Amino acid sequence: MYNQPVADPALIACLHCDLLQRIPNLAPGASARCPRCDKELWRRREDSLNRTLALALGAALLYVVANSVPMLGLTIVGRDASTTVIGGAQHLWDNGQEIVAILVLLTAVVAPALQIGLMLAIVLGARQEHPPRWVGTLLRHHPVSRIWSMIEVMMVGVLVALVKIADYATVIPGIALFVLWVLVFILAGMQASFDSREVWEKILWADEEPSDAASNSLAEPTS
Ligand SMILES: [Zn+2]
Repeated sequence: MYNQPVADPALIACLHCDLLQRIPNLAPGASARCPRCDKELWRRREDSLNRTLALALGAALLYVVANSVPMLGLTIVGRDASTTVIGGAQHLWDNGQEIVAILVLLTAVVAPALQIGLMLAIVLGARQEHPPRWVGTLLRHHPVSRIWSMIEVMMVGVLVALVKIADYATVIPGIALFVLWVLVFILAGMQASFDSREVWEKILWADEEPSDAASNSLAEPTS
C-alpha cells in the first residue's frame, strides 16, 4: 500500500519549521522563502541539469589529475621527496597515524570521488525522458558523500603545514595543489547549480499508477 499523494504539486513543507505552503511559479534564478522562518525553500536554477553535468564532468577530470600528479615536493639537505594525496595518506599510515590516514583518505579521496560519481549518474539519469527510480535512490544518498567531502579542509591543513615547515625545508608546491584548489570551487559550483526538486519531479514513481492518478486529480479544480 502506498500513501495518496496530494494533488497540488505546488505544496511544499518547510524543511526548517514544517510550515505547509504554496510555492509560486518562479522565474529562473528567483527563490521562494518561508514566511514563518525566512529560510530559503527553493531556488529555481537556470539550466540546472546541463550546467551541473558540465561542472561534474570538469570536476571528474580535475579529480583524476589531482590524484595522479604530485601535491607537494620537499627538499631537505639535498634530498628530494614528493608525494601525491594518496601517497600522503600512505606516509601517515606508515608513521603510525592510522586514524588520520583513514580520515584523509575518506574525506579527500573517497568521498569526493563518490560526490562527483553520484552526481554524474544522477544528472545523466535525469536527462533521460523517463528517469529510472535508481536516480531517486542515488539522490537520497548523495548528501552523505557531500558531507564527508572535505578537500577544502585538507587544503587549509596543507597550507598551515607548509608555513610551519618552510623554516626547515624547501617546499615545492605540486601541480595537484593548484588543481585541488580549482576543484574546490568547481565542486561548490556543481552543488550550487544542482536542483534536486527538478530531478525528483521527473523520477518514475514507486507506485506504478500515480502518474495517472496524480494527473487526473490535478485536472480537477483545486481552489
Ligand atoms: Zn519555515
